[in-house]
Amino acid sequence: MHIGAHVSIAGGVENAPERAKAIGAEVIQIFTRSPQGGKVPPITPEVVKKFKANCEKFGIKDTYVHAPYFINFASSNNRIKYGSISSVRQELDRASLLGAKYVMTHLGSTKDLGEKEAIKQTIEGLKKVFDGYKSSAKLLIENSAGSGSIIGSDFSQINKILKAAPSPHLAGICLDTQHSFASGYDWKNNFGKTIEKIEKEIGLKKIKLIHANDSKTELDSKKDRHAHIGEGLIGIEAFKKLVAVAAEINADMLCETPHPGVIADIEVLKN
Ligand SMILES: [Zn+2]
Repeated sequence: MHIGAHVSIAGGVENAPERAKAIGAEVIQIFTRSPQGGKVPPITPEVVKKFKANCEKFGIKDTYVHAPYFINFASSNNRIKYGSISSVRQELDRASLLGAKYVMTHLGSTKDLGEKEAIKQTIEGLKKVFDGYKSSAKLLIENSAGSGSIIGSDFSQINKILKAAPSPHLAGICLDTQHSFASGYDWKNNFGKTIEKIEKEIGLKKIKLIHANDSKTELDSKKDRHAHIGEGLIGIEAFKKLVAVAAEINADMLCETPHPGVIADIEVLKN
């Protein structure tokens, strides 16, 4: 199990491994493009070669790719709906070129269609993502934090979606500690019960990656606000226990906290 962080690709993806090394990260998460949208820089054989050489040089064990922010499989706007399907598929192909293991994505919101239709459209969208897919990277669904309309704030709902869109390419979930805390999973006061709950709702084995972020906002706040490890309301004790769980299930941990404070976060998780 390895510890790492989200790192910037400013100047090109090939620059990420050196930045990762500088902050003590053993594994990295990147966007391969601007997460807000816009032009998608090509991943040429030359970029791949440089990226892989730099991973080797700076000791980066694995790469994870975060899909862009605009993904909403349950949009009533066809441009967004089909754009989500094609962007996730594109990120899977791009991640595969870079040798990344997983792409993680959020699913979207039920606000356009209502819950039942939204889940149905999300499942259809995921199936379309994998239609004819032949590359190596697999997809993870990340749990979300947000108002009632966000899809994937509870693990039983994600489990239903995983089961309804079975694919060898849909590997499981990325568990974000802050998003789950903001959705009512109490890591601070009920660690054991929270683990039991997740085991029951989806199974710990489905967790392939952990986003280790402390929380600026309180339990069940429905707000997505990351804090440095030990500086938020989840607290350091819970993260120590989570490192042990991550080691057991062999899931890497990535911090999505601001730089350069992330250096201390990585350090804390390593020890
Ligand atoms: Zn996250």
